[in-house]
Amino acid sequence: MIFENTAKLANELDKNDKLNHFRQEFLFPQHNSENVLYFTGNSLGLQPKDSINAIKQELDDWAKYGVEGHFEAKNPWFAYHEMFTEPLSKIVGAKPNEVVAMNGLTTNLHLMLMSFYQPSGNRTKIIYEAKAFPSDQYALETHLKARGLNPDEVLIEIHPENDGHLINDLSILDKIEEVGNQLALVMIGGVNYYTGQLFDMKSITGKAHKVGAYAGFDLAHGVGNVALELHKWDVDFAAWCSYKYLNSGPGSVSGVYINEKHASNTNLTRFGGWWGYDKNSRFQMEKGFKPIPTAEGWQLSNAPVLAMAVHKLALDLVMQAGFENLIEKRVQLTNYLEFIIDDISKTEDINLEIITPREQNRRGAQLSVYCHGRGKELYDFLAENGVMVDWREPNVIRMAPVPIYNSFADIFKFGQVLIKALKQ
Ligand SMILES: *Cc1c(COP(=O)(O)O)cnc(C)c1O
Repeated sequence: MIFENTAKLANELDKNDKLNHFRQEFLFPQHNSENVLYFTGNSLGLQPKDSINAIKQELDDWAKYGVEGHFEAKNPWFAYHEMFTEPLSKIVGAKPNEVVAMNGLTTNLHLMLMSFYQPSGNRTKIIYEAKAFPSDQYALETHLKARGLNPDEVLIEIHPENDGHLINDLSILDKIEEVGNQLALVMIGGVNYYTGQLFDMKSITGKAHKVGAYAGFDLAHGVGNVALELHKWDVDFAAWCSYKYLNSGPGSVSGVYINEKHASNTNLTRFGGWWGYDKNSRFQMEKGFKPIPTAEGWQLSNAPVLAMAVHKLALDLVMQAGFENLIEKRVQLTNYLEFIIDDISKTEDINLEIITPREQNRRGAQLSVYCHGRGKELYDFLAENGVMVDWREPNVIRMAPVPIYNSFADIFKFGQVLIKALKQ
């Protein structure tokens, strides 16, 4: 694809884009009565227009049936979470018995650590990436302390190379090899929230297994963004949130993948609750925890239906668009954004350094741009002129075009505002 920094090309690309009409299914914040140029879907995806109706359906059924809504509602609440099995398994490349929607992401990280961090003898170490998302760092630190361990003795951080921003996949593989039989677990953000770097989850998993350790991934920035084959890669577990690339609303329900070889093991250590109990005998309310032999066996509580109503709608939209189609468009959108940023960096008096990997197979939608010279004032100008991107200290603008609602014209227009900012 030969790109140009012109409205003509951007409009042509949009005209040929069979997913373009999906943007009409979403609500954009307004700036001077026009849609903002929204590039923060990596923090919070836009609201599907029908959300209000999806929630209203549950409110109406609640009003009409009260507790009987568990069975009488249009989407019976008793089995509400089961509606997510199929779309989620397609999106993360799993078998239906390996996924479940439940809880919040950080809660699920703790639940997964409970099951998949089983130190014994010398095998106590956990490898994770430096500058992991703060919640993941705090989860690891406090989890280890709660289990009577010293985080400083357990955690091994992998750092970027040569004072750069990116972590070489090989550094992770080498470290796994080096720690060897002292390694209990590798837990890494599949796509790094700061740089947008996509890690080689398949190789990391293979290497972890080779030394006898488990491999799990936080896919907050991966799910709905990059192609995942968690089952094929033999990943042990993963967890994600639904409000970034899956557009399911602030704080909406998280999801978990547990490889079926573990999910079917009802003796695996876990924190249990009644919603993870064998479905046929759950309401006999007997003593003695008997888990469902699938990922559902990790559920604690009955489903938060109001938040899940939007999750359902948002996943239906992804399925209608076709996840493969979305990935294909995402690659093009991000390539176009990269082209526009490089073009402006060349012609204007500024060095806009894209710190996200240049290789397509090492990134998703997001580009992180290190603004040498002037950063915050650029960001402020963009914000005042209807462009929503994300600012990270010390000098990084993160932005992600999202294929289900962003257009090529959005990216061209962003470039025009950026040029105006630089001419100020
Ligand atoms: C967004 C994000 C979170 C947020 O955690 P919540 O429990 O959903 O608040 C955690 N980890 C990573 C890597 C994230 O990107």
